[in-house]
Amino acid sequence: MAVFECNRCGKCCVSLGPHVTIERQLNDRDYYCRSVLDNAIFYAHVDPEYHEEIADEFESGQISLTEPEKKTCWFLRKNHEGEGTACAIYASRPQVCRDFRCYCMLVRDRNGAVCGRVTGKNSLCTDNVALQKLWDEQVLPIPCGEVASWTKLVAGILAERGYCADPIE
Ligand code: SF4
Ligand code: SF4
Repeated sequence: MAVFECNRCGKCCVSLGPHVTIERQLNDRDYYCRSVLDNAIFYAHVDPEYHEEIADEFESGQISLTEPEKKTCWFLRKNHEGEGTACAIYASRPQVCRDFRCYCMLVRDRNGAVCGRVTGKNSLCTDNVALQKLWDEQVLPIPCGEVASWTKLVAGILAERGYCADPIE
């Protein structure tokens, strides 16, 4: 079993964003928030490098508590330490964000290197043309029923061609 590793690319935060709302500001770095999907209240503590910009946006009204068209989470920010984005409340993010897995299985080659990721029920992301062909021809036709049986079948198909299925724990 593989351990899920989030690279903090922020792609899921665009769709999760509308489901994380700020109910009120407690001080310039703490917010009383709601995770709409499970209707859970949580306290968001903003990481030091982001608290000023978020507090400024909050005070200037750029962060609106009632904006219906909000697409991206207010706490999704440009990564100050590198490329891409970062969650400004990573340590205090809500449970739905902690539980989210954007892939459910890794596919490894003969050397153990990751050569594909399975997302959703049975979509494969890979640059490996042969693996993609195998997937399209032999895995996609399998009905997505019970996960354990599907995984066992897929692992067998991959193993015959020298790949290893490594489900996320
Ligand atoms: S869970 Fe996946 S999509 Fe979301 S930030 Fe992490 S790597 Fe990106
Ligand atoms: S709280 Fe963080 S992890 Fe969750 S949607 Fe917002 S930016 Fe993404």
